[in-house]
Amino acid sequence: MTEQATPIIVVDVGSTYTRVGILSSQGVLLDDRVRIRTPGAALLPDQSLSDLQSQLIETIAQQIEQLRQRHPELGLNQVGIAIGVAITCQGIVMDASVLWHQRAQGFDLASALRHRLDGLTVWIQNDAAAMAWRHYKLGRFILYTVSTGISCKVFDRKLTNMSQLVLDDDELGGELGHVSVAPEKGWLASNHAQSRAQQMPTAFQNSLLAKLVSNAHEIQPGHLGLAAMRGDQFAQQLLHEVDVPYCECGNLADLCAYSSGPAIVRTAQRMAQHNMARFQKSRLADFCNGQINAIDTYAIAEAAKVADPLAEEILGQGTFFLALSILQLCAALGLSQVVIAGGFANGVGQPYFEALHRNLTRLLFPSGFFTNWTAADLRSLILPSVDTDNDALIGIGRWVQAQLNSQSGKNCDGETIAQEQSRTKLKERLL
Ligand SMILES: [Zn+2]
Repeated sequence: MTEQATPIIVVDVGSTYTRVGILSSQGVLLDDRVRIRTPGAALLPDQSLSDLQSQLIETIAQQIEQLRQRHPELGLNQVGIAIGVAITCQGIVMDASVLWHQRAQGFDLASALRHRLDGLTVWIQNDAAAMAWRHYKLGRFILYTVSTGISCKVFDRKLTNMSQLVLDDDELGGELGHVSVAPEKGWLASNHAQSRAQQMPTAFQNSLLAKLVSNAHEIQPGHLGLAAMRGDQFAQQLLHEVDVPYCECGNLADLCAYSSGPAIVRTAQRMAQHNMARFQKSRLADFCNGQINAIDTYAIAEAAKVADPLAEEILGQGTFFLALSILQLCAALGLSQVVIAGGFANGVGQPYFEALHRNLTRLLFPSGFFTNWTAADLRSLILPSVDTDNDALIGIGRWVQAQLNSQSGKNCDGETIAQEQSRTKLKERLL
């Protein structure tokens, strides 16, 4: 980034933690120590949606005020916010189910923040878009974020829209986590639920599921997913019986339901319940005191690091549909660089990437786009993210700086058009 770039207050709102910092005029992350629990539905399940929204805005505003007080010399008046929801370029929420366990469609987050942060310029981007900007020097690639949810963004430096991402006119796109990857599993689950509800009328009538339908014959996959997501034990038990996963959005068997961090934890718990003897002998059991309910991402990561076969199998299942999605999108768009960002994938680290690579190897057939691809090509396809926890913070700051550069006729590296042309000519001469 150019030395004249404006320092930016950067905020990363994840489902679990919110972090703040400053991206300096030299592109260095400063004062990024603050990490607070996000006041979302996971932390405050009993609060109303409007209370959660107000608390989030207040939390962000307070952190920004404190940062400005700590660094008066920087004249901080530009704010970049990366947030883990589907959001338009105008800052209107389209789907916040992972953060608030409700879509909250139409909520004008940008206006609410600008009203609270009077006098500051507020820029908002989806967090995966921000993470892509952390890696913009790769030129053309797809970034997947694998954490509480899953989404992707395709970056192409040749694009001329605000984000240089492949998106629609509202800057939406890449929310592939909530698309079914195994719809037959959803239909299997609803057929199973219809017959079980008739076999167990009392349990059914006492369930949340019964409140969503007028009789058992009407149970559809969406009803089961919604009930399970809201904690209905009857619906969760039925899904467990047919081994069908649900997602926080209420869908069954979508990509998030298999490959997000919480989904992989639930897969691990299901596998442990299905084979208690194997679980008790596994290293995974050592990292959760032998308690199935205590299996978490940390335990899976630690067990995978000591090559526990059960943990490796869990990661194998958790990366299968992700690998399929990667190959489909690479072939569709002609991509050969895939950045995997997000706390879960990078938190587990090497065992996660090995599991993903094994699935890619199993699924890739060397025809069409992949004709002549070698094992080395496949090995170099996947790139772990550079900064893991800081990707979104640095990326959102770079994106805001690029927008400010663009307003003053410069490219995203802060070069004027004349400087860029002269550098390109020099490069051509050297070639
Ligand atoms: Zn979903």
